[in-house]
Amino acid sequence: MKRKRTSHGVHFLLSAKARKLSITELYTEKSDADVSKIFHEMRWPETQGRPCCPKCNETDCVVSVPKRALLYRCKACEIMFSLTSGTFLHGCKLPLRKLLVGILLLADAVKGMSASQFSRQLDVQYKTAFVLMHKIRASLLVENSRTMLDGNIQIDGAYSDTKERKPNEHKAAREKPAQDKSKEEWKPTPRCILVARQVSDERRKGAVKTVIGFAPCENGKDVDAFVAKHIADGATVTSDEHAAYAMLIAHYKLKRVNHSQRYSGPNGENINQAESYFSRFRRMQIGQNHFFGKHLLGYAAESAWRDDNRRKSNEENAMALLGLLLKPNQDCLWQGYWKRYLRKGKAVTLRKASPKARGSRLATAA
Ligand SMILES: [Zn+2]
Repeated sequence: MKRKRTSHGVHFLLSAKARKLSITELYTEKSDADVSKIFHEMRWPETQGRPCCPKCNETDCVVSVPKRALLYRCKACEIMFSLTSGTFLHGCKLPLRKLLVGILLLADAVKGMSASQFSRQLDVQYKTAFVLMHKIRASLLVENSRTMLDGNIQIDGAYSDTKERKPNEHKAAREKPAQDKSKEEWKPTPRCILVARQVSDERRKGAVKTVIGFAPCENGKDVDAFVAKHIADGATVTSDEHAAYAMLIAHYKLKRVNHSQRYSGPNGENINQAESYFSRFRRMQIGQNHFFGKHLLGYAAESAWRDDNRRKSNEENAMALLGLLLKPNQDCLWQGYWKRYLRKGKAVTLRKASPKARGSRLATAA
């Protein structure tokens, strides 16, 4: 019997479109110059990879420092800068090829990856892997804070770290008065992730843009601040029956679905795309990261980015991540994370050109 083909076709991740770049290709087909060119083009896209002075924005007066790879000097401003100066990768000492392989590994991990697994696959210390992954999350958070949604929006909130540890004693033993208060069971503090997703007008396309926010609990005040920052006036917002979303009717066309009665309203109102985000987010926690701790928002931003880019090739996603990491004028909060004295608000400054660097040659894209 001939098998009937579904209208959905093959799953995107099983198609050839999903795999445009591989680790094999990065190690066998790309030379050092090719890898360097990729980094230069992502760092200075306006000048097609030609190093540009961060102070005067000129390329003609920039020369490369002899015997120092990726270090440049501006003859006009007398400052030295590198490929990663002022970006999220400022001070990163990993070789470029290894860095690119790491970014590709993370772009390929559809449900995220634990820092321990990443450190083994990339052959770096756990600390290095942890910080690199958080630098990516920090760059995604910056993008998230600038994103505005319009059109058809679905909004919802979900709690993280809500499960209590199972008590040691059985029920009968627990009913006895506690002898020592210091031995009370640990209780987590629930924290709420708010999510708003812009749904495509095209059928079966799902959500196209996601923003996330944080609140101690699902409440009207935090929801109002979240939507004012991320949702354009006049948008259509769909939420569940929670009272925190009641006041959205003042600025938006509000649709609601009562989840205590049904999943989808009589006119098709639903927040399935917001629920879908939380489904992936929970799987990332259960399967990979286990504990989000104080970096919860970063993990939520990572999950949002993965969901929004689920139908892009791994090459596109890797280059997008590299582009975000190499955006200039960033606060390098993760620079020197393991060296506490570097973390205490030490601003990134550009070094003055040393007398040794005077005999530099004009720099071109590597
Ligand atoms: Zn300059």
